Amino acid sequence: MQKTGSILKLKEIFDKLSEKIAYTELSEEKIQEIGYEFVLELVENDVAYDVAESLIEELAKRLARERVSRLTNKKNLVREELKKLLIEVFERAGSLDMDEELKRQVSLGKKPQVLLFLGPNGHGKTTTVAKLAYRYKRNGLKVVLAAADTFRAGAIEQISMWAREIDVPLISHSYGADPAAVAFDAVVYARKNGMDVVLIDTAGRMHTNVNLIEEMRKIARVIEPNFKIFVGDALVGNDAVEQARVFAEKVGLDGNILTKFDADVKGGAAISIVYVTKKPILYVGVGQGLKDLEKFDYKRFVDQLI
Ligand code: GDP
Repeated sequence: MQKTGSILKLKEIFDKLSEKIAYTELSEEKIQEIGYEFVLELVENDVAYDVAESLIEELAKRLARERVSRLTNKKNLVREELKKLLIEVFERAGSLDMDEELKRQVSLGKKPQVLLFLGPNGHGKTTTVAKLAYRYKRNGLKVVLAAADTFRAGAIEQISMWAREIDVPLISHSYGADPAAVAFDAVVYARKNGMDVVLIDTAGRMHTNVNLIEEMRKIARVIEPNFKIFVGDALVGNDAVEQARVFAEKVGLDGNILTKFDADVKGGAAISIVYVTKKPILYVGVGQGLKDLEKFDYKRFVDQLI
């Protein structure tokens, strides 16, 4: 499988790193020196620079504290420490089982639950919103979609097509309309019609575009979503991570979804996006169809790496 094949590259790097450290004295300086030789390779595999650097520094610090006897398997020791460090990155971001959380909130009568999706164009936001509408509907929830990308030509048609296929209502205005007004109408519709979940698709453009960020902040202010979720393309790796960083800082995020995990993903983006946003990965996209969405299991992911 391609997915495993490409994560293998990162696995190989961690393996080489462990091997090399195992053959030296475990002093902090020495480990750092070796570690820095690997930073570039890590970055090439989508681990963001500051993430790679801090992993190496923390690894060096911790290993230097270890008591090592002649009988200690040093390579295993390094691997275990590295694994712990990666697990900690994911643990610090907390966990959020969105499927369960929505069911729970709705059963408490807290509805509609409003989910706002943010992220650059072409990263798979609209497709992901459709996959989630399909998923939540199958979980027994009443879902309404909001076409709040009123900017990109074809965006409204694209989401309308999905809404028809999944058979869920869609709230849309015309192109050029205020996205916050579309989102607001969808929430009002949901309240009136006893819907459980509102999924709001938004415009992409460039993350550096001040207007876009302002537009997202405005939607968030007007509708106060329960969850703000970044959707990024794992294939563009560090690029997606940088964009997530901006959205996290300027709009605030509750979770991430990485798309195109089925393609040639190097794996580093998953570590970096969690490190940078301090929020968990809720799902990963694994194809173009409605069913191609999986919960992200970080323990399994780290097990595959080390
Ligand atoms: P948006 O501009 O962010 O709304 O992106 P779209 O939803 O239009 O998706 C852009 C392209 O990526 C489309 O061709 C999708 O079918 C494709 N895509 C989205 N998610 C995935 C995924 O998880 N895997 C693969 N292979 N393709 C995906």
